[in-house]
Amino acid sequence: MLVVMKKDATPEQVQRVVETIERMGLVAHPIPGVQRVAIGITGNKGSLDPNTLECLDGVMEAIRVSKPFKQVSREWKTEDTVVNVGGVEIGGRGLVVIAGPCAVESYEQCVTIARAVKSAGATLLRGGAFKPRTSPYSFQGLGQEGLEILARVRDEVGLPVVTEALDPDGVGLVERHADMIQIGARNMQNFSLLKRAGKSKLPVLLKRGMSATIDELLLAAEYVVSEGNPNVVLCERGVRTFADHTRNTLDLSAVPAVKGLSHLPILADPSHGTGRRDNVVPMALASVAAGADGLIIEVHHRPETALSDGHQAILPDAFAGLMEQVRRLAPVMHRDLADAPTPASR
Ligand code: PEP
Ligand code: MN
Repeated sequence: MLVVMKKDATPEQVQRVVETIERMGLVAHPIPGVQRVAIGITGNKGSLDPNTLECLDGVMEAIRVSKPFKQVSREWKTEDTVVNVGGVEIGGRGLVVIAGPCAVESYEQCVTIARAVKSAGATLLRGGAFKPRTSPYSFQGLGQEGLEILARVRDEVGLPVVTEALDPDGVGLVERHADMIQIGARNMQNFSLLKRAGKSKLPVLLKRGMSATIDELLLAAEYVVSEGNPNVVLCERGVRTFADHTRNTLDLSAVPAVKGLSHLPILADPSHGTGRRDNVVPMALASVAAGADGLIIEVHHRPETALSDGHQAILPDAFAGLMEQVRRLAPVMHRDLADAPTPASR
């Protein structure tokens, strides 16, 4: 951290700041300038709160020079992290496409969609058994039964499964039935859930909160990693803005921003990111062009009957068309399309 003194700060005020820094067990390095004095601080292991120093007399501002997150940062680890999900690698050369319904509604629905997305080339199956709904009267998911359906469909179709846990107890249930734990946008800062996921052996798909900054997303990931689980995949899923032509604004600049700041893989979710079926394919392709490590796409064979998010689900045919375009776009990004795992690699 760097403390910048006001132009008219007195030597006594500078001295008081130096003493305060030293009392915190840190080392102060006063740097006299032509107009003002700055004081560099070294020796801090965690992050310092700038407010502690900004409230001292003569201080103009305290500026963080290092990021508040540690283990998820590129400084900590320069090479890209590759996360293995049931035999599928996320963050390597292969683009990973997670596809499936918003919610598991029945065995028939789930297996029909799973077969369709698998034959189009999807690498992982998604489907919520516990749904975080805005209204308590909306379909909340099949719960345990939904997890059992997912596990059965995974075994029959051969796609590893990603599903959401809403609370720490839910993590235990998801661990018994799925291959990856999803933490949704509404729970990005549910710290007890993050800590519980940090104790899991399963990889975590952490979605960006709808009003979270990139630093907040990376600090949420830091909660999981600092509890001992290094296998975190981030996901940009749109943020709230004034724009009302889409449900959310898919913030694709988050993808290169995260890539610069962190070694963790990042996916894009154009389904929740736009909330409109007709926007999903173009924004999926834009996500790949922006450097995302893969996509998460909601697909439904009868979206008009879907119990959640039918308006943004694309049909299996449209999904197959998208996969064809992703396959052609991948080499431009020096990538290819990841294969679904063979039974032996799972
Ligand atoms: C979902 O993936 O179905 C979901 C609820 O996503 P989000 O948490 O991004 O809204
Ligand atoms: Mn959904």
